[in-house]
Parts: sequence; structure tokens; C-alpha cells
Amino acid sequence: MAKNVIQNPKGMHDLLPADQPYWKKAYQRVEDVADSYNFLRIDTPLVESADVFEHQLGETSDIVEKQMFYVKSKGNDRLVLRPEGTAPIARAYIQHGMSHLPQPLKLYYWGPMYRYEQPQAGRVRELHQAGFEIISPEDDPVYDSQVILACYKSLESLKIKNVTVQINSIGCRVCRPHYRKKLVEYYKSKEKNLCVDCKRRIKVNPLRLLDCKNETCQPFKKDAPSLMDHLCSACRRHFKGVLEYLEELKIPYLLNNFIVRGFDYYSQTVFELFAEGVEYALGGGGRYNYLIESLGGRFTPGVGGALGIDRIIEVMKNKNVALGIRSKEHVYFIYVGDLAKKQSLPIINSLQQAGIEIFESLGKDSLGAQLRAADKAGVPFALIFGQQEAFEESIIIRDMKTGAQETVPLVKLADSLKKKLEK
Ligand code: AMP
Repeated sequence: MAKNVIQNPKGMHDLLPADQPYWKKAYQRVEDVADSYNFLRIDTPLVESADVFEHQLGETSDIVEKQMFYVKSKGNDRLVLRPEGTAPIARAYIQHGMSHLPQPLKLYYWGPMYRYEQPQAGRVRELHQAGFEIISPEDDPVYDSQVILACYKSLESLKIKNVTVQINSIGCRVCRPHYRKKLVEYYKSKEKNLCVDCKRRIKVNPLRLLDCKNETCQPFKKDAPSLMDHLCSACRRHFKGVLEYLEELKIPYLLNNFIVRGFDYYSQTVFELFAEGVEYALGGGGRYNYLIESLGGRFTPGVGGALGIDRIIEVMKNKNVALGIRSKEHVYFIYVGDLAKKQSLPIINSLQQAGIEIFESLGKDSLGAQLRAADKAGVPFALIFGQQEAFEESIIIRDMKTGAQETVPLVKLADSLKKKLEK
């Protein structure tokens, strides 16, 4: 790395040309899944009013408390770089009266999110997510399973093997407060032995006690009252429904009572997707029955899931997932002399229009340098266009492997090249 050169911001990465085939493939597969299940694309701004997130994600959620990138602007607006995709979509749903569109409304998105986290393996500050959302007046479990299916299928089509969905229900406004009380009572008796974070969580965000990763708190977690035993009958029925659909779909799942997820807006189903041999989650989501209402809309349930594209691409690279994108064969265009150079661009244009991809280095004067560049590019054919060819309206096709050369009239160039490339 060059010294004293301005660097990219911490935890935010350049996606260099060598990475692009992975990003292209990931996007294509997510888009294919979205299209085949009828999710419509939505894009919201990278910057949102802080009000979209602060209350909905929860004042005591990690994201709101520590990870928001606040944007300084000339006005008085309180703006942030979006940390996630669901709350902005709920904001857009209300703002654009999307409840008047046929429901369920199935939406998907793709783009960068920003979280001020400590960068480490699998954790960056500019992360990319693809997400699926289903918003509908009915909070039917079939929608939860369709969102999970879209996430699962995306991973499957990217050849990420042995994916399991870890799933839980965190109840609703009726049953969760009772459970929360029980949990606080249980943890109060252990308070002095808990980690600093958990001591605070008892007061501000008790559910998060269940996903503490600190060693000292693990023994208390396993004997903590179980959420599952405290669900009301509606939540239990809903959860059973989701699991039955997953079974019908043959999606492997694991009940995990400790998944609570970081945002306040979740209710009932919460889930995360894991692949064998990968320690962090590749995706996660859940139901958010109260989110639209808490942003000022009419009570409208929804369910969504987001895939962590940066992590997925890391897995694709580590597992040598074949990209399967057939690179088109290129042809190298070489000119000799000023007259030929002047006439080069229209010839290149006509080949591009015929669907042939052209490499060139028109800034290089010497034939030797251009031939060397053609060699390095590994193209099967080079086109050599010199003074005589310019007069005769012809061009030389050179087979780079054998060195054999053939002169063809310019009007027949595209057809001759296509025939040669097809062989
Ligand atoms: P969340 O929005 O927190 O539910 O995250 C959904 C998915 O995004 C996770 O399962 C991860 O795969 C990915 N993700 C979340 N935070 C980060 C991060 N800081 N860096 C990379 N990926 C992340």
C-alpha cells in the first residue's frame, strides 16, 4: 500500500474490477429469485430522516445507540445514512399510499447500508444487503415462509450449500410484556454476576439478555425462562403455521430460543440463515406487525428478510463457487498509421453494434506495443488496420494462436469474425 495516500474510510471497501463478477452474479441471482416470486424492486435514498429509525428500531438498540452515521447538512434536518432497509420501505409505503396497490405488496431491494461498527471478519461499516418484504393487511404465516423461501433460494442459487434457518417467535404486544417481566425477575437474581452490558440490558432491553455472547453470561442463559412457553395462543398458532410451511417446502430449520434480533420493530417470527462451516449469519429477518403503525400509517403487518451480500461473497470466494458467467470472447483492434487511426472508431462502433466486444489501446502508436497488449489480453483474434487496408476498405484478421492472417473487406468483417468466434 502506498504511504501517505488518502485511504478509504475504515470499514468501507472499494469493489474493484476483480470483485465485480461476484457482485454481478449475486445481483443476478437475487433478481432472478425476486422476479420469479413476483417481488417488485424498490429503491429508497441512502440518507433518511433519523426519525425513520430512532423510535422504530428502538432507542436502546445497538444500531440507534451506537451505530448511526449522522449526516451534517446545511439545513436543520436530522439525517442519517440508512442502517437498514425495512424502516425506509415502511416510510415509503405510507408516503406513497401503497396500501391502495393490490396487497400483499411484495417488494425487494438491493444496496448499501451504514453501521458504525468495529470492523472485523464479517463485519464492515458499509455493508450491502438484498432484502425481500411482504406487506399485507393479513398477517398470515404463509408470507413469513415466502420471505424465508426467497432468502433461502437466493443462497441456494449462489451454490451456498447446507443452509439452515434458525427460527424463533418473540411474541406480540399481548404476550411479550408478560414474558419480559418473567425474564427480568429471573435475571435480577443473577445481576451481580452478569457482564456490564447485561446489567444495563435488564433495565433497558431485557430481551437482548438472551443473545449476549459474553462467556460469563452463558450459564444463566440456558436456564432462563423460555419465550416459547410464554407465547399467547395466536402467536403459537402463527409460529406453528410458519414451521408447517417450511416443512412443506423442505427448508431445513432449527428452533433457536436465543434469536431475538436487534430491532424493536420485530414481533412474532424472527429468523437467521446460516451456512455450514460459516460462523456468522448470512441473512436474517422477521415479522414487523407494528412498524407501519409506529411510523404514522394505518395498522398494516409486514414481514421481511435481508441477506448480507458482503458475507455471501466472502463465502463464495472461500468455497470457490464457480461464477458461471461466460465471458464473451474479445477481439483486439490494432491500427498502423494516422489515416487508419482516424478511421478506427467507426469500425469499432460497427463491431460493437454487431455484438462483438473489442479491446484496443488506441493511444499506443507502435504496432509492436499493440500486438504485445493483444497477446497479454489473451484474445483469440486481432484485427490489424493499416494505411493500405484503409485505402482498400479492408482489414486483416490475425489468428493469435497460429499467427495465420487473412484479409477481408470491411463490409464482411462482422460476419467473418462471428463465424470464426463460433468455431
Ligand atoms: P440485520 O439487518 O442486522 O438483520 O442483518 C441482516 C444480514 O446482514 C446479517 O445476517 C448479515 O449477513 C448482514 N450484516 C449485518 N451487519 C453487517 C455488517 N456490519 N457487516 C457485514 N454484514 C452485515
